[in-house]
Amino acid sequence: MRIQDLSVVLVCALVGQTASLAQSAKPQVHVVGTGGTIGSAGGYWTGNATRVPVEDLLKIPGIDSVATVTTEQFLNVPSSAIGPVRWLELNRRISELFRSRPDLQGVVVTHGTDTMEETAYFLDLTIDGDRAVIVTGSMRPSNMAGADGPANLMNAVRAAADTASRGRGTMVLMDDRLFSARDVTKTNSTRVETFQAPERGPAAIVDPEGVFYRSKSPGRRAAQFDIGELVDLPRVDIIYSYPGADSVVVDAVVAAGAKGLVFAGVGRGGLTGSQSAAVRRAVDKGVIVVASTRTGSGRVPVGTRGTTIGSGDLNPQKARVLLSLALTRTNDATQIRKIFADNQ
Ligand code: ASP
Repeated sequence: MRIQDLSVVLVCALVGQTASLAQSAKPQVHVVGTGGTIGSAGGYWTGNATRVPVEDLLKIPGIDSVATVTTEQFLNVPSSAIGPVRWLELNRRISELFRSRPDLQGVVVTHGTDTMEETAYFLDLTIDGDRAVIVTGSMRPSNMAGADGPANLMNAVRAAADTASRGRGTMVLMDDRLFSARDVTKTNSTRVETFQAPERGPAAIVDPEGVFYRSKSPGRRAAQFDIGELVDLPRVDIIYSYPGADSVVVDAVVAAGAKGLVFAGVGRGGLTGSQSAAVRRAVDKGVIVVASTRTGSGRVPVGTRGTTIGSGDLNPQKARVLLSLALTRTNDATQIRKIFADNQ
C-alpha cells in the first residue's frame, strides 16, 4: 500500500470513529409506551381503532439528531385502564431503567390523555433521583389529519434529552408546552390545547429551537413516597357535590371500604347538609376526608375546614393521588393535613 493510501485509510477510520463517538455522545432517551390515542390509528372514538406499536410512533424525521432513542411497549391500553396497580408497576419499571442505565438522560412515557395527569402526578411523587420523566400523548389518532402525536413525542424526547430538565420531577408535554405534573390538568374533551395549569401556567415552552424554562432553578421537591413492596393503594373515592346531593354515595363508599374520600365540592369545597352529616359519620370511623373544588381551579384552604382537610389548589383527581399515597404512611388526620400543606 502506498503511503498516501494508508493515510486515506487512517483518515477514514478516524472520521468513522469520530462519527460513532458523536453518535454515542447524543443523549440517551428511553420511551415507554402505554397506549392511548397517541398509540392508535383509525376510529379511536368509535371503538374500532388499531393499536400502533410505540417503535412505529418514533419514526419521526429528525428525531435521531435530538437523541438516541430506545423503546418498549409496557402496555397498549386506553388510559382508563391504568390505575393504582399499574402506577406502581410503571414506577418499578422506570426506577429499574434509571438503576440499570446510568447513561439514560431521561424517560418518556406515552399515555392516553384522559388520566395522564394522575399517572404523571403519581410518578412525580414517587420516582427518585433527578432525571426527567416526561409524559406525553395526543388528542388525535396517528393517521388523522393534523395528528398531534409526532410533534408531542418529538418535543417530549427533546425535553427528556435536555440537561435543564433534571431536578424538575415528572412533567407533561402537550401542544408545545411542558407542565409540572402537579399543576397540569385536562380542561377540554377534544382540543389539542386541552392541557393547562390553571393556577401556575406552563413550566416551559418546547419547540425545534429548544426547551425554554420559565425558571432557571429546578426547585423540585424530592420523591416524597417510597412505594416499597406495595401492589395496590388504599381505596380513595371522589364524590361530587351538587344541589340536593344526599348521603347515599358517601355511606356506600365507606361501606365498600374507602379509607379516604375526596369531595369535588361546590365553590370553596362546600357540601350539602346531608353530605356533611355523612362526612361526620365517616370521620368517626377513621376515614380521612379532603375537600377540593369542582370549579376547575382555585384553592380550598388546607387548614380551615373542621374535620375535613382542604386540598389547596390540587384538583379532586390530584388530591386523590396524594391522599392515597399519604394513607400508605399514616391514618392520622393531622399528619395528612401537614402532607397536603407541604404540597402547596
Ligand atoms: N381515551 C384516550 C385515553 O385516554 C384518550 C386519549 O388518549 O386522548 O386513553
